[in-house]
Amino acid sequence: MKTIGLLGGMSWQSTVGYYRAINEGIKSSLGGLHSAKIAMYSVDFEPIEKLQRDGDWEGTAKILTDAAIKIQSAGADFLLICTNTMHKVAPQIEDSIDIPLLHIADATADVLVKKGIKTVGLLGTAFTMEQNFYKGRLSENYGLTVLVPNAADRIIVHDVIYKELCLGKSLPASKAEYLRIINTLAKQGAEAVILGCTEIGILVDQKDSEIELLDTTYIHAQKAVECAI
Ligand code: GLU
Repeated sequence: MKTIGLLGGMSWQSTVGYYRAINEGIKSSLGGLHSAKIAMYSVDFEPIEKLQRDGDWEGTAKILTDAAIKIQSAGADFLLICTNTMHKVAPQIEDSIDIPLLHIADATADVLVKKGIKTVGLLGTAFTMEQNFYKGRLSENYGLTVLVPNAADRIIVHDVIYKELCLGKSLPASKAEYLRIINTLAKQGAEAVILGCTEIGILVDQKDSEIELLDTTYIHAQKAVECAI
């Protein structure tokens, strides 16, 4: 079994989900007392979130490349960045290490392509919903049409992530808003919706929605399990 490298802590609420999903995946594949071999570095999210708000992405890249190098030195065979947003600096991280990076958008796109989905909704932070590093990768590399909520709804989705989910709060009113936004995307033609922030699965679940939801934490963790065994 290969050793999975996890660059976590963004936020730690979702890194818990990665740890659980990866270990459950290894257990269901190998049985018995098998568990995942993981080398994890979990960062302090507060300074990273401030750098994001200031638009200092090079500052975030510096923190994350330092952490990625430590994960490689700890024996990881490949690396996952346990957040969609911070894939904005995936190219800098990839350049600083020799082990492969399993990109969260590629893992998600593989699932969409296998399911034959062509038009997909995307929920995530404003950075993920508005900038090209994520949407562009899905459309340019996989031919997907990506729909995002309108400006007012993007603010709701973004604020719930940073002011509630990353702090461990899961509120019924926010869940109702997310489900309303998901339904709007479905009416606009989305065949499925990407939960493109690793905390959203804490708030909404497939059983809450008729339209298919793709939880990037689970998909990314499953890809790690496949690569490990
Ligand atoms: N975990 C989130 C994501 O998947 C947001 C936190 C962050 O900015 O990294 O995008």
